[in-house]
Amino acid sequence: MAGTLAFWLLFLTFVGAFAAQVARRIRIIAAAPGGFPLDNLPFRINRFLVDVVLQRRTIRERPAAGLMHAFVFWGFVAFGGYTSVEMLYGLGIADLTRTGWFEAYRALLVPFATAVLVGIVYLLIRRAFVRPVALGAKVSVESIVIALFITTLMVTFLLTFRFEEATAAARVNWWAHMLVILAFMALIPASKHFHLVVSPLTVFLKSPELGNLPNLDFEKEQVGLETVKDLGRKMALDAFTCVECGRCQVNCPAWGAGKALNPKTIILQTQGALLAGEREKKLGAIYSEEVLWQCTTCGACENQCPVGIEHLPIVIGSRRGLVSNGEAPDYLGAMYNHLERRSNIWGLGYDQRTKFVQSAGLETFDPAKHDVLVWLGCAGSFDADFQKSLRSLFEILRARSVKFGVLAKEKCNGDPAKRTGNEYMFQELANANIEDLKAAAPKKILTSCPHCVKTIGNDYRKFGYEVEIFHSSVYVEELTRNADDRSAKASAEREAVTFHDPCYLGRYAGKVDEPRALLTRFGADIKEPERNRDNPYCCGAGGGLLFADKEEEPGSRISDVRFKQLQATGANTVVTACPFCSIMLKGAQASAQADTQFVDLMTYVNGKLTKASTTPTSQGG
Ligand code: SF4
Ligand code: SF4
Repeated sequence: MAGTLAFWLLFLTFVGAFAAQVARRIRIIAAAPGGFPLDNLPFRINRFLVDVVLQRRTIRERPAAGLMHAFVFWGFVAFGGYTSVEMLYGLGIADLTRTGWFEAYRALLVPFATAVLVGIVYLLIRRAFVRPVALGAKVSVESIVIALFITTLMVTFLLTFRFEEATAAARVNWWAHMLVILAFMALIPASKHFHLVVSPLTVFLKSPELGNLPNLDFEKEQVGLETVKDLGRKMALDAFTCVECGRCQVNCPAWGAGKALNPKTIILQTQGALLAGEREKKLGAIYSEEVLWQCTTCGACENQCPVGIEHLPIVIGSRRGLVSNGEAPDYLGAMYNHLERRSNIWGLGYDQRTKFVQSAGLETFDPAKHDVLVWLGCAGSFDADFQKSLRSLFEILRARSVKFGVLAKEKCNGDPAKRTGNEYMFQELANANIEDLKAAAPKKILTSCPHCVKTIGNDYRKFGYEVEIFHSSVYVEELTRNADDRSAKASAEREAVTFHDPCYLGRYAGKVDEPRALLTRFGADIKEPERNRDNPYCCGAGGGLLFADKEEEPGSRISDVRFKQLQATGANTVVTACPFCSIMLKGAQASAQADTQFVDLMTYVNGKLTKASTTPTSQGG
């Protein structure tokens, strides 16, 4: 009786502490504007099963630590029923501990307890002694305490099989187990272990689209995020979900190049500001404006985060707030000026595009005549180097009798305006392009620019414009699947080649196999660089940084870091598939005075096809 009373007192104290902390966080989240979008439920349910239940994302990047973490998570779930039954017993509400099913359940928990013990000891050693840089310089006392709590829980559970029921040892063991559970509960909400409670929800609520930036509604006077009170509900939930694993940090190219930006710090600063109630504080002062402009929008942080946190809406939302107050850096002011006056990022006259269109023999798109509309983009309209690669694409299409045309006029798709927070300018460009595209009525669009794929394919959809859009690597891969024997023979000589995945192709669009299939088909022996496929290291151009003054960049240049990674493969040829990656990496190559060759994917493929068609076969054909 006295034991039950004591347990009630402890239960109310610890659970009360837990509830008070949780209620505080719920109040903060509920006070944030906006709601939780629940579009695309099948996708969300599937991701929940894969990333929460199966712990895919946790295991994928760090297989050993991830698996150990998964053991702890699965054990935590498996012990839910056991803990509830023991609580009911301790509170004197019901004694289910003597039932047959509970005995069977207890026996089933033994392998889980063993796996949790293995997992937590591994994680404890990693955190206290190995101390990877992602976990921070200081060993967190709280993490050590939690690890010891979990170890105690598992050991005391396993000891229940050794002690005779109703002995003093069994009673001490039971109390030790239950006291640790109660203390654990009280500790959870005020620590990063709150992710145990909220991360399944955060993963479920994460947008199905990487780097999702809903349109601003100017009629409702939306201008982006200016102060802490503007942070949306999902952003507040994200802030309380961070487990401080540092995966976003170590995958961030800006952080990797020694800049001040650290996406993990952004989330923790958000949490700090929300808990401190600094609702009126400017976000530029919380994160620092310098940091906000260092993001390339590569999406690595968001893509790697195991608990569903979305960094880009915070970063670009804050940029929107700065732009609306005229606080964009000077280099962006110049780019905006070009977009405003000439509708392209370099401020060039469209007569140059017309000349290219005429010299390449391009027709104006007509849906009755053409299979596909080729979208040139700013680089295709004005960059002489990139135009060479487009000419290769046109040769491939013509050789396979694909009928294609271009728009009579095109404006920049608006990506550089959108990702730098100039939403008003983006919407103007997008609406003008959508009007022209609707008038032309293509069923399929083909482009060699991954940024155009993302913007026209995803961002324009938010204005109700839907079209099938392909990157040239995907389209040409399908088109050349049946390349004739002569091509195959010409490809027999293998050459070492490195492929640099553009962030907006590999990570955003998930197109990693098609470029590789093309390269392999046409003679490449691919030497993979570190950071490849759907987790490439950015070239440094995205998010408007193409226009930043490279001499004034703090830390190293992102493009230099990437160039060294590509060089380290030993292959002298680097194939790119994005005009902006090409510009950035060629700049890094020039600084390094290296003799690495850069070739656009379409030029590479067309070169091999042309060689094959001019190489005499053994039959003399
Ligand atoms: S999007 Fe890329 S550059 Fe920006 S914070 Fe995330 S990882 Fe860093
Ligand atoms: S934001 Fe996500 S990836 Fe970054 S430290 Fe927090 S939990 Fe880890």
